[in-house]
Amino acid sequence: EAKSLGSGHVCVFQSQMQTRLTEKKSFEADLKQALRNGELEVFYQPQVNTITREICGYEALLRWFHPVRGQVPPLEFIPVAENIGLIHELGEWVLRTACLEAARWPRSLKVAVNLSPVQFRSRNLIQSVVTILTQSGLDPNRLELEITESVLLDKNEQTLDTLTQLKAIGIQIAMDDFGTGYSSLGSLRSFPFDKIKIDRSFIRDVTTRADAFAIVELVTGVGRSLGMTTIAEGIETEEQFACVKQVGCEQVQGYLLGMPAPASRLEHLRQVVNYDDSTDCGNLIDAK
Ligand code: C2E
Ligand code: MG
Ligand code: MG
Ligand code: MG
Repeated sequence: EAKSLGSGHVCVFQSQMQTRLTEKKSFEADLKQALRNGELEVFYQPQVNTITREICGYEALLRWFHPVRGQVPPLEFIPVAENIGLIHELGEWVLRTACLEAARWPRSLKVAVNLSPVQFRSRNLIQSVVTILTQSGLDPNRLELEITESVLLDKNEQTLDTLTQLKAIGIQIAMDDFGTGYSSLGSLRSFPFDKIKIDRSFIRDVTTRADAFAIVELVTGVGRSLGMTTIAEGIETEEQFACVKQVGCEQVQGYLLGMPAPASRLEHLRQVVNYDDSTDCGNLIDAK
């Protein structure tokens, strides 16, 4: 059958492969330049107390604005950064930026930073976190590091050791996207997290599907029993908010409560922090 396709098809196939490879290389090259070109920015999304509706802190979310590609989603460029080893540099930059920023906020506000599994396994992680905390002057207990279950997949001594060291510094650990990975409940036993982030996929269906509601209720209950804060991700409607509040979820995060935005654009912070408006970037795709 391969014969009947003829050599012309092989050529088309080869040239498509070539195009894709070229595009991949150019994407990687652009990403490597992004930081130097000032195309990266850290946005912040509020995390809110369910009962008082007060802001407890903000999650730092990396943004890439490319002059030609436009806004590239983190789910597209973070995996590439991990593959080419660039995530260490980007991750450190996000952490340093977020800590410096948060050091200017009222002391009641925390900042949460996502940590890639690749960063987590790095030998330099603890040293670099300590250095950044010292340089920024941010109190360690105002920093929360978000990790995913995949970090716990290799259940070796080093994983537990790293988590224990971070905790010893005073940093809080949050389990991100909870319920989407493997061994969800087991992972809560193997390490005492400070916070469980219930994945958006459950929140999306929480008002319409009994199974999603049951899971949110269960995770909230387990979290409470284990002394962990629970937060519902991706709250978009008042109905979803009411639902998670009803089962006792402590915090919420989502478009309903606030879009990710540069720190200088966050209303709540504008009132208390003197931001230099001239440093604002004009690209506001998240916070319209
Ligand atoms: P995540 O850590 O679970 O972050 C929450 C994601 O949900 C963010 O997407 C946020 O914009 C989005 N989101 C928040 N509220 C809502 C809502 O109400 N509805 C919907 N549909 N979405 C909502 P984003 O910023 O595109 O980031 C996607 C993922 O990329 C993050 O998921 C995180 O895993 C990763 N990421 C983002 N920034 C960083 C970073 O600095 N370092 C690392 N390692 N990963 C990052
Ligand atoms: Mg996160
Ligand atoms: Mg999440
Ligand atoms: Mg998520």
